Amino acid sequence: MQSFEHLITTSPHEVRQVLISDLHLSPEEPALVQAFLALLDDCLALPVLKRLFILGDWFEVWLGDDFYLSLSDEERQSHWLTPLIVKLKRLRVAGCEILVMHGNRDFLLGQPFCNLFGGELIYEPYTLTVGQQNYRLEHGDALCTDDKKYQFFRKIMRNRLTQWYLLNKPLEKRLAIADKMRKSQQNNANKAAHIMDVNDEAVHQAISDSDALLHGHTHRPAIHQATTDKKRYVLGDWRLLDSNIRQPKVSAVIGAVTGDEQSNDSFNSNAAEFRLIEFKSLI
Ligand code: MN
Repeated sequence: MQSFEHLITTSPHEVRQVLISDLHLSPEEPALVQAFLALLDDCLALPVLKRLFILGDWFEVWLGDDFYLSLSDEERQSHWLTPLIVKLKRLRVAGCEILVMHGNRDFLLGQPFCNLFGGELIYEPYTLTVGQQNYRLEHGDALCTDDKKYQFFRKIMRNRLTQWYLLNKPLEKRLAIADKMRKSQQNNANKAAHIMDVNDEAVHQAISDSDALLHGHTHRPAIHQATTDKKRYVLGDWRLLDSNIRQPKVSAVIGAVTGDEQSNDSFNSNAAEFRLIEFKSLI
C-alpha cells in the first residue's frame, strides 16, 4: 500500500480529498491527538485539497457539544480539543471543507461544535462522486447486523428523542451513563469475531444503488470485492504502535481522492481516482 507521505511528496497537486475514520481521540491517548494534528499539517500543505471527511468515531466518546461549549475562554485555552479546533479552522480558511459523520461512539456530536471550525455535520449514507462513480459512505456499524444486541442499542441511541433526553441530563449524569456504556462495550471482547464484522447481506443491500461502498468501524482495513463489479473499501482505525517507546508511532489506513474531478474522460490518465493509503506519524 502506498504511503500518504509518498503521495504528498511526489504529487501534492493531485490530492483533492482525504477521508479518515475511527481515530477514537481522547485525552487519555495524547499520541493519537498529536497524530491527528500531524495529519492536519500535511493537509495544510496540500495546495488543491478541497475536502476532509471524518467518517465517524472521531472521538472515543462524546457526551454533547456543551461539554466544550460551556467552558470559559480560560478553560478552553488549556483544553486538549482547542489545538485541534484551531488547526481545523486554519484548514477551513485555506479552502478545505471539513465534513464530519457520526460514529457509534460520537453520535451526540452536533453542528454547534462543528461551527467552531467551519465544519459540517453530514449524515449516512452520503454519496461521494469520484469521476463517474458513486461511492456510498457510511460509518459501518449499521452493516454489522449479526450483532443483534448492538443493533437494538443503536436504534435507541440514534433516536432523536433519546438524544434529546440524554442531552438534557446534567453533565455528571451523562458521564455516569458513558461509563456504563464503556463497561458494556468491554463485553465486545468476548463476542465472536464474525459478529463484530459486516454482514454480507447488509453489504449487498447497501451497495446496490452505488458503484462502491466505503466505511470504517470494523478496524479491519481492506479492499473487498463485494460483488463481481463493485468494491468495498474499509478505512482503518488509528493505531498506536510501540506504545512503550518514548516516541510512539501512529498508523492508519486512510482514503484519498486524487486526479481531476472535472474530467469525465475515463481514458484521461489524470482521471479522478479513489485509493487507500497508509498514514504514519512519528511524534
Ligand atoms: Mn465505530
